[in-house]
Amino acid sequence: MEAELMKPEIEELLRFCPRLPTLSGVALRIVKMAREPEIDIDQLAALISKDPALTVKIIRAANSPLLGRAQRTRNLQQAVMLLGLNSTITLSLSFSLTNSLKRNESQRQGLEHFWRRCLLSALACRELGRQCKAGALEELFLAGLLHEIGVLVLASVFPERYPALLDASSNHEGLIAQEREHLATDHGEAGAWIMREWGLPDYIPLATAAIHNPQAMDTPESLHAFIACVGLSGYIADIYLETDTESATASAASANECGPALDRAVLSTVLLQVANSLPEIEELFEMSFMSCEQVNGITDEARELLVMRYLQLLQHASEADRKASELERTAVQLQEMARRDPLTGAYNRRYFDEMLSQRFEAATRHQQPLSLGFLDLDHFKMVNDRYGHQAGDVVLAGVAKAISSRLRGDDFLARYGGEEFVLLLPNTNLELAQRILERIRAHIETEEHTVAPEHMIRITLSAGAAAHMDGSRISNKLDDLIRAADRALYLAKRQGRNRVEVAE
Ligand code: GH3
Ligand code: MG
Ligand code: MG
Repeated sequence: MEAELMKPEIEELLRFCPRLPTLSGVALRIVKMAREPEIDIDQLAALISKDPALTVKIIRAANSPLLGRAQRTRNLQQAVMLLGLNSTITLSLSFSLTNSLKRNESQRQGLEHFWRRCLLSALACRELGRQCKAGALEELFLAGLLHEIGVLVLASVFPERYPALLDASSNHEGLIAQEREHLATDHGEAGAWIMREWGLPDYIPLATAAIHNPQAMDTPESLHAFIACVGLSGYIADIYLETDTESATASAASANECGPALDRAVLSTVLLQVANSLPEIEELFEMSFMSCEQVNGITDEARELLVMRYLQLLQHASEADRKASELERTAVQLQEMARRDPLTGAYNRRYFDEMLSQRFEAATRHQQPLSLGFLDLDHFKMVNDRYGHQAGDVVLAGVAKAISSRLRGDDFLARYGGEEFVLLLPNTNLELAQRILERIRAHIETEEHTVAPEHMIRITLSAGAAAHMDGSRISNKLDDLIRAADRALYLAKRQGRNRVEVAE
């Protein structure tokens, strides 16, 4: 599994470049420690504690719902224990690398985009790996984070020429071609080189080199899934960063130079997980670049595009192919999946928005009442804080199921965001809507949710409703309806929660 060697004159250039990205002393020592056969928790904690910023981050990571810990700790030793040695080392590396590299390069323009892509790739790589069981999650994260580090290296070695190459290439493949033509190397090679210089564990430079130059590499079988995840992670990052979501999604769906194209259902799930984890990761890495609304919007759009692509493939498939592969059934499943929020099974925001404008128009046309209710769980943050994020998820899913079981055929429940649901009630005036919501509220109040073995809790919700085409309450604007229902919810919260209010 020899990598194709870098040309000696290029290596010379790199080695003697005074501006190369460097690692902090602590990061270098963590790398060194990671190579030792026996590592001891106290030693590792002592080393981490030399870097106060890193210490804070490791403790925060140990408490992070993302990593699924319900326990709280303020103590570094305990944090290391909770995370485990390997995860701590890999996370420490991710934190210190990001930190020292960001510091080195922050003056330079255009790198903000680079770091966003790194972080999104890291997250995507981790989630892909989780889906395909391709390795330890933190290792996948680190490899995803660093697989484009060669761009920084080349930018340092060729400060005059490199920006022009970056500008001249519209995508990743184009950039590599430009690099090979003009610099006699590429950022995959340069990245792998510097990772080896730093002494990073071998699988990371190996994966980096392999995805940038698959033909030249003969990689061990055991790393194939890992490498495929790293390779695909950049494409997923681009879905969030490129202005043209459609073509970025298409590229991700058909990217297969580093392994068989991923199952669309898997890709769709990964996108959701990336969207869910992004706020947490942004906080841990102190980078904020996308609002929840934005990231959810892009995710839903991309998932729908995946379905549409699939339906197109289906159209072109022959009759025999359809039967053989049950394409049709899969298509219907996929379509339904793209409309649903996977955690709660309720419809997602994107589909809801579509339905709402349709129903609103229909109600206006047929002069039939239409009611809209917002339902928000009360003090839900406390559930997360007390029992952990996963328990919170169980409660959310339980509430959604309980609400659904109380609905009539035409009613439409969607997850509006976080712990807020929205209910669309066709052919329902405000009075009836109030009764329906009141019934739901009373039912939820009695429902029990298992948050830990043999530990049940109850939760309440507050709701606000407004109606369209109901007697004097007629407005032609959809926004007015939404605003009125939202105000009613706000009122229910202010009046003490666990109650239903309707718009005046
Ligand atoms: P209020 O009664 O005023 O609505 O209080 P609240 O705590 O419910 O409201 P707040 O908006 O302060 O907090 C909502 C919390 O819901 C914060 C957020 O972490 C949590 N949350 C949002 N989405 C999810 C999710 O998908 N899973 C879990 N477990 N928690 C979530
Ligand atoms: Mg709430
Ligand atoms: Mg809320």
